[in-house]
Amino acid sequence: MHQLTLAEIARGLADKSFSSEELTRALLARIQQLDPQLNSFISVTEELALGQARAADARRAAGETGALLGAPIAHKDLFCTQGVRTSCGSRMLDNFEAPYDATVVARLAEAGMVTLGKTNMDEFAMGSANESSHYGPVKNPWNLEHVPGGSSGGSAAAVAARLLPAATGTDTGGSIRQPAALTNLTGLKPTYGRVSRWGMIAYASSLDQGGPMARTAEDCALLLQAMAGFDAKDSTSIDEPVADYSADLNASLQGLRIGLPKEYFGAGLDPRIAELVQASVKELEKLGAVVKEISLPNMQHAIPAYYVIAPAEASSNLSRFDGVRFGHRCDNPKDLTDLYKRSRGEGFGTEVQRRIMVGTYALSAGYYDAYYLQAQKIRRLIKNDFMAAFNDVDLILGPTTPNPAWKLGAKNSDPVAAYLEDVYTITANLAGLPGLSMPAGFVEGLPVGVQLLAPYFQEGRLLNVAHRYQQVTDWHTRAPNGF
Ligand code: GLN
Repeated sequence: MHQLTLAEIARGLADKSFSSEELTRALLARIQQLDPQLNSFISVTEELALGQARAADARRAAGETGALLGAPIAHKDLFCTQGVRTSCGSRMLDNFEAPYDATVVARLAEAGMVTLGKTNMDEFAMGSANESSHYGPVKNPWNLEHVPGGSSGGSAAAVAARLLPAATGTDTGGSIRQPAALTNLTGLKPTYGRVSRWGMIAYASSLDQGGPMARTAEDCALLLQAMAGFDAKDSTSIDEPVADYSADLNASLQGLRIGLPKEYFGAGLDPRIAELVQASVKELEKLGAVVKEISLPNMQHAIPAYYVIAPAEASSNLSRFDGVRFGHRCDNPKDLTDLYKRSRGEGFGTEVQRRIMVGTYALSAGYYDAYYLQAQKIRRLIKNDFMAAFNDVDLILGPTTPNPAWKLGAKNSDPVAAYLEDVYTITANLAGLPGLSMPAGFVEGLPVGVQLLAPYFQEGRLLNVAHRYQQVTDWHTRAPNGF
């Protein structure tokens, strides 16, 4: 049963091959058996899951239908989940039980999904390797000595290892697409404002966006359908009609114009990944797409700009964790300053502290103009590059990451080396555009992803192209040994 995709589970539940409770019990047993190797879950919510599964079975017995009714899901541990620990991968929130459900959690629960647990993640979603978690690193099921990517590394490892068919993630600079690429999944970062951020613990509010991670584009379409839509509780949510993502999956690619940015294929890209990207282009050409070279001239400035803007916003967002209202509080504070200092010093890990320092510096009087304002200007230039490119092409294609998954610990002493891994993903966040990563082959047994970017609100186009590609390739069906 654990090999089934969401679409297959939907059919199995509909024709009564199994019940949601049976499926839920089977997957909970699998998590218990296999997750100790991976560390992909921070919390397993067995009771909640069994209650939701029985409720879903009852709804079906009463005649209700719905593709996700009774299907399993896990949430990255930064989506607030009522009555369940929501840690954000941090010691700071180790004792925090959310008093309400995030909109994403609530919408998927209304659709009848069964929450199996909360997945491991980089602390406050800062990282690309899932090594900054207070709960320890996550292992990549394709090779347990390698990282699964981050920050949604727990969601990625759990789905790749067939512990469950799908999970939520969030993407501030690549945290859905990059771990999807490094674990052979399909992951979609929607347009900024497409999916509500309400109840998602903020990292960098102008960049954060939640989205689905699954094995196929077809499954991502089912999930996005339930997640997307206007939410009055999120002031940056956009009131734009939600397309029927599943209906568009089989649309023809005849005449689809795909742009390959010449800047993507320079030094820094593993040539074996470049080859796999070219092979994916060939497949899409066979399906009728036409390919041309384009340019994104400001791409080289994206990493420096992102690593000013994201920490700046984080330094502000994380100021609420002060040991006073909720979260970690130090023992026996001498006075209020001591309480703040020690609670924050003990509660936050090294990478989070580094970003708070960088962000506070970049926003401080005298440096604001030199760093933050400059970074915002670059952000606009990057957006303009995309707007110009999308005058000529319908879709942009390239690698998701410059390298396959690296060894645990390999980049720990050099944060900038890890930041450079985000080179292909962060521009979509800076511009607010939707992006998808899909499996496209292997290098030394480790998965490689291809990234597709589309104009605002064209998630349907991304899912359509990925789905058509997945009908003529089988990379996405490959499972790691032992799982
Ligand atoms: N790796 C990037 C960072 O550390 C992106 C993380 C994310 O998307 N949450 O900021």
